[in-house]
This record gives sequence, C-alpha cells and structure tokens, in this order.
Amino acid sequence: MGSIRYSRILLKLSGEALAGDLSFGIDPGTVNAISKEIAEVVAEGVEVALVIGGGNIFRGMAASEQGMDRANADYMGMLATAMNSLALQDSLEKQGLETRVLSAITMREVAEPYIRRRAIRHLEKSRVVIFAAGTGNPFFTTDTAAALRAMEIKADAILKGTKVDGVYDKDPVKNPDAVRYENLTHMDALKDQLRVMDATALSLAMDNNLPIVVFNLFTQGNIKRVVHGENVGTLVQ
Ligand code: UDP
Repeated sequence: MGSIRYSRILLKLSGEALAGDLSFGIDPGTVNAISKEIAEVVAEGVEVALVIGGGNIFRGMAASEQGMDRANADYMGMLATAMNSLALQDSLEKQGLETRVLSAITMREVAEPYIRRRAIRHLEKSRVVIFAAGTGNPFFTTDTAAALRAMEIKADAILKGTKVDGVYDKDPVKNPDAVRYENLTHMDALKDQLRVMDATALSLAMDNNLPIVVFNLFTQGNIKRVVHGENVGTLVQ
C-alpha cells in the first residue's frame, strides 16, 4: 500500500451499520469488526473522528410522521446517537485505543461537552474522537453533523461507510445493471440527487471543498484502502 492520503479523517457511520443483521439495536460482533478496522488505521498514525447515526434505535422523522412533535422526536434521535457512540467507545477501547466521546448535548456524566479545540487536541494525542448527539439541533441529520465537524476539525476527508460499494446511478440492490461512479463532483451529486449524503451536508462540503469518499464499510480492509487513496468506492470532490 502506498503512502497515506488522508491523515485526519471524519468517519461517518449510519446507526444501521451497528445493527449488523439485526433490524434494530446494536450487534456487538459488527461493532467489534468496525473497531478493528479503525484500530488498523490509528496504528498507522491516522487521526480518526467519528460521527454515528441513530437510525438503528430512533429516527425523528419517522416518529413525527406518526404524530410526535418533530423537535421532540429529533432530540430522541440525538440521544440514540449517544447510545451508539458509547457502544463504539467501549468496543474501540477493547482494541486498546484511547477514545473520547464529545457530545453536542451536555451529558457530562457520560461524555465531554463538544469543544472544538478540545476535539483537535484529542486527535493530536492519537485519541479517537466520537462526536455524539449530531449537531445538537433538531431538523438536522448526522450527515450534516459529519460535514460540520469535519470542517471544524479540518479533516482531510469525510469517509462515509455504507452497505454498498459506492454511489450508483440507481439502487444497486434493486437494479443489477446499476453503474458505480468512481468520481463525482459535489454539484453532480446534488443535481442528480444521488445518495451520497443529504443535501444540507453535501452543499456544506461543496462550499468548503471537502472531499467525501463513499465506500463499503463491510469489505474488510476498506477503511485502510480509502485512507491510502486506493480507488475504492466513489470519490466526491
Ligand atoms: N438528529 C437531529 N439532529 C442532528 C442529528 C440527528 O435531530 O444534528 C436526529 C434525527 O431525528 C435523526 C436521528 O437523530 O433522525 C438519527 O440520526 P440519523 O437519521 O442521521 O441517523 P442515521 O440515518 O445515520 O442512522
């Protein structure tokens, strides 16, 4: 493998990624497998920050469609991301990594409050930083939190781990003839409504020239490949 292309990364995982084959909740085996992959790149000196979704536990939009107040439901969604963050923290520590959870909603018994300079300091000390509770604001998503935090900590790229090999012209699960894009611009992704990240996150990344790599999280060694700039998944820049 060649030299390291992205030395400070923001890895975005959906909540569903932690559920493995379960339809709800957290699958310890899956979480441990992800942690091992993260440990490999930390061992190479890569600084890793994480944003985790909450969709495996609670989604604000879905609850509001069933009558719940949207803001209230979104706060529940943010709390779900905090649970996922603690699960991943536990697993990463079992890999021998130092970690810190920084939460956008104050919950000082379980996580540090989010302070940008502190996050950067942790990264410089090779600690894996997990950003919990999204942006701390309802009506946003963890994709947007990922773009925001990536810019704040001056990450070299967002790595968006998914269940498929990248961005396709149509849903590859339903269409066997779907074609994967190797490269895309942020504008193409926005214009064609390709499923990279939501529009708020994409436009934030576009305005700040932040590359996004969409890749299959479940192919062993992929985080390392992306970090080394191998042609894995889809590069949006
Ligand atoms: N959420 C929010 N503000 C944020 C991030 C998340 O309100 O800044 C809530 C929202 O209700 C969302 C839920 O948290 O549905 C879980 O996040 P998301 O849907 O992004 O998780 P994923 O789909 O990545 O698992």
